[in-house]
Amino acid sequence: MTTDLTRSTAAELADLLAQGSVSAREVAQAHLDRTAAVDGAVHSYLHVDAEGALAQADEVDRRRSTGESLHRLAGVPIAVKDVMATRGLPTTCGSRILQGWVPPYDATLVTRLREAGMPILGKTNMDEFAMGSSTEHSAYGPSRNPWDLERIPGGSGGGSSSVVASFQAPLAIGTDTGGSIRQPAAVTGTVGTKPTYGGVSRYGLVALASSLDQAGPCTRTVLDAALLHEVIGGHDPMDSTSIDAPVPPVVEAARRADVKGLRIGIVRELTGEGFQAGVQTRFDEAVQHLVDAGAEVVEVSCPSFTYALAAYYLILPSEASSNLAKFDAMRYGLRVAPDGVADPSAEQVMAATRDAGFGDEVKRRIILGTYALSSGYYDAYYGSAQKVRRLIANDFAAAFERADVLVSPTAPTTAFRLGDKLDDPMAMYLNDIATIPANLAGIPGMSVPSGLAEEDSLPTGFQILAPAMADDRLYAVGAALEARLTAAWGGAILDRSPSLAATTKEA
Ligand code: GLN
Repeated sequence: MTTDLTRSTAAELADLLAQGSVSAREVAQAHLDRTAAVDGAVHSYLHVDAEGALAQADEVDRRRSTGESLHRLAGVPIAVKDVMATRGLPTTCGSRILQGWVPPYDATLVTRLREAGMPILGKTNMDEFAMGSSTEHSAYGPSRNPWDLERIPGGSGGGSSSVVASFQAPLAIGTDTGGSIRQPAAVTGTVGTKPTYGGVSRYGLVALASSLDQAGPCTRTVLDAALLHEVIGGHDPMDSTSIDAPVPPVVEAARRADVKGLRIGIVRELTGEGFQAGVQTRFDEAVQHLVDAGAEVVEVSCPSFTYALAAYYLILPSEASSNLAKFDAMRYGLRVAPDGVADPSAEQVMAATRDAGFGDEVKRRIILGTYALSSGYYDAYYGSAQKVRRLIANDFAAAFERADVLVSPTAPTTAFRLGDKLDDPMAMYLNDIATIPANLAGIPGMSVPSGLAEEDSLPTGFQILAPAMADDRLYAVGAALEARLTAAWGGAILDRSPSLAATTKEA
């Protein structure tokens, strides 16, 4: 009997590897073959490292054959968003300005993947410097949604969501500054977790907005996300914002999947108006499933959330304008000589390089951020946004007095068509209306599939939010919901993806 290894979850692969029923090389090769068959259509990857992944797999097989005790995910391959520094592997952040840059060091989370013996298959596509909700701002062309190749896979981490949704990798790493792990998960029918701010090291994560950025798991099941969260989480002396405390018991929570007596708060401001009817219906049904599983429901109000998007689009550009100043043509990547200037000054080279190297969305945000931070406007814009940020954190604190977790739809709509929102930045920004508050407050959040919207048969996502360092609650609720929904559907949601079935036949 031949089993398609790419259809297995990470937990299943780990068991097969531990039993010796498959080798790490076979697992890596199966995923690389799948990529060769489908990634021409999906475009999840910016860079595939077949040779490196197979070498890491062989090393795991060799160590296992000597009887060495290995990490439980040893030999389970993974794809990494191209915003994480990887030694010896190109890291572009989806930007022309970093084309050709090969970091001399690994991000801490990459080091942890390597130490666990997890072969790195490649680097996934993303909106340039993680600015966007569709991957259409990638300088290397968009990724596509495996449910419908004419639609977006979410962003900025659409490469990481589509890579797991198209079975090219069982696991991927994403980063979430305003929703870039959760919204892509929602629109591709996959699972994504943004851990508590400081729960996963940011060392080697090329910063978009340092006070908001957080790396986390992109997977097909809640248990897989927990297993990966445990590998990458925990204190790192190389990141001064890293929390010096044990990783919350996420794997245990995912296995227990218990919500009896848990108080679930529905956030009034994050439901109803502005949410697609089919998204709202699936959300309401999911809440009912949790009630059937023994949870209690309360309604909570977070009035300051109305200002979250506005505050985010001042704080993020401010931090980004400062973080991106280092791309100056002197230290990394691209260097462009200005046209028709015989002996250009350093400033002229910097200007020409930044003009050629950055895309429109990045320039838009640098201009916004520079303006918001300029003397005379600082208090009115950046200062006010920071006050709103405090009010949002206060709203969460009050809501968590009444509820153990908060829930909402993850994204207001299902996947939209490529090109639909490209010329309307405001429409693009509104995708993250429900995810941004968690980043502003530093709390953890997860998106789990909640079924297909009736009107377009596309995936919808259910968002779960918990207090800081209570990440385990996300996994308890997520796993409970996943168990009930897969039972109701008679299988995993990705089994119902039509374009995926077509590409599977090709493979
Ligand atoms: N879509 C949001 C933005 O464009 C979120 C991005 C992210 O989380 N990296 O800023």
